[in-house]
Amino acid sequence: MNYDYDFLIVGGGLVGGSLALALRDTPLRIGVVEALSEAERRASPASGRTLALSRGTAQILEGLGVWQEVAPKAMAIRHIHVSDRGHFGKTRLHASDQGVDALGYVAVARVLEDALERALEGLATARFRPARVIGLKGGRDGICATLRRNGEDFHLTARLVVAADGGNSTVRNLLDIEQDVRDYGQTAIVTEVRTERETNFTAYERFTESGPLAFLPLERKKCAVVWTLKHEAADELLAQSEAEFTANLQAAFGYWLGRIKPDSSRQGFPLKLIRAERMAEERVVLIGNAMHQIHPVAGQGFNLGLRDAALLAERLFVQTAFGEDIGDRSFLARYAEARHSDLGRVVRFTDSLVHIFSSGFPPLALARNLALIALDRFPAAKRLLAHHAMGYGIRL
Ligand SMILES: Cc1cc2nc3c(=O)[nH]c(=O)nc-3n(C[C@H](O)[C@H](O)[C@H](O)COP(=O)(O)OP(=O)(O)OC[C@H]3O[C@@H](n4cnc5c(N)ncnc54)[C@H](O)[C@@H]3O)c2cc1C
Repeated sequence: MNYDYDFLIVGGGLVGGSLALALRDTPLRIGVVEALSEAERRASPASGRTLALSRGTAQILEGLGVWQEVAPKAMAIRHIHVSDRGHFGKTRLHASDQGVDALGYVAVARVLEDALERALEGLATARFRPARVIGLKGGRDGICATLRRNGEDFHLTARLVVAADGGNSTVRNLLDIEQDVRDYGQTAIVTEVRTERETNFTAYERFTESGPLAFLPLERKKCAVVWTLKHEAADELLAQSEAEFTANLQAAFGYWLGRIKPDSSRQGFPLKLIRAERMAEERVVLIGNAMHQIHPVAGQGFNLGLRDAALLAERLFVQTAFGEDIGDRSFLARYAEARHSDLGRVVRFTDSLVHIFSSGFPPLALARNLALIALDRFPAAKRLLAHHAMGYGIRL
């Protein structure tokens, strides 16, 4: 069978774009289908979200040649300060204690998207954009995708389709892959504030009765705020005037950074844990948010998705070098198996954080405080926490 492409990446977002870039030095013929035009992507409010990036992510991005462009616009996190509002427990982590210059980084998604876009522009990779995959027809030998562009449909064939089309994945829906959905009943409010005091490369995580509140340093005196609350409380805060909202945010966060002033609009993101029941099918594999959408409390969604892409690129590279079929079912099953434990660990870690740190239940609040005090006193426990922050995400 003659294929138009060796493989098609559906979704040219952060994860799909990174995968295309990771495979630039292979002889594979790659097509990337992206629903949004470049102008739409740049104008999208979602591009304004702030991402906490682990050191591992920075290293992968460096290998892709994009970190060099992102680093000057990213803020290093040298300290993490964790506290519990209205309770006594708190702990601090310092990069210097771990012998590193940063525990992780903070960057606006748009900065990363722009750097990826520039790197992709120079490649031979075929890009269909704006175009949307609306149909898939699989067979033993290949897969045929139907694309819709400017109201017209056309077909492309490939050995493998990689679904990197986000939480509402069309590919996953077309294949009827069921999802395990856990609704946390929470919304993350995302905004930015100016601060009176210098952020001093410090990320703050504060556990409040209403939910965890993160202040991530964006500039010397500017922070990105992620406040996770029950839907009703979030709706109320989202509807408030700027002055009312700022007063409530200040009360919840305290004066660790002095007075705060709003510096952007507010956006609400409903939070769910969504995991597809299967990562791979005959000639199709799911990566990034198409496979898993996790609570941003631990700041791990993109970090995890990038590791999906990095391992898939490595495996595809080897499979191609041996002249084997990249759409082979057992090859894809082995890849899925290799990703299983990382995904399971991150989901369990995030899930327990949401549970423990969103609880106002007194025994849990007490346990959480004791844990924070213990962490602050025992270097070994702190090292473990720092290891999580550096490898698996920043927010605790
Ligand atoms: C409030 C919030 C805070 C977060 N904070 C962090 C953080 O601190 N650290 C972190 O690591 N992660 C964080 N995340 C998670 C992170 O944003 C996601 O995990 C990451 O963006 C997923 O990337 P993706 O490429 O898999 O999916 P997406 O970014 O959703 O990209 C999917 C792409 O596919 C395209 N597409 C969709 N359907 C089709 C179709 N049918 N055909 C063609 N193209 C299609 C879309 O246009 C889009 O460009 C946060 C998320 C939220 C909501």
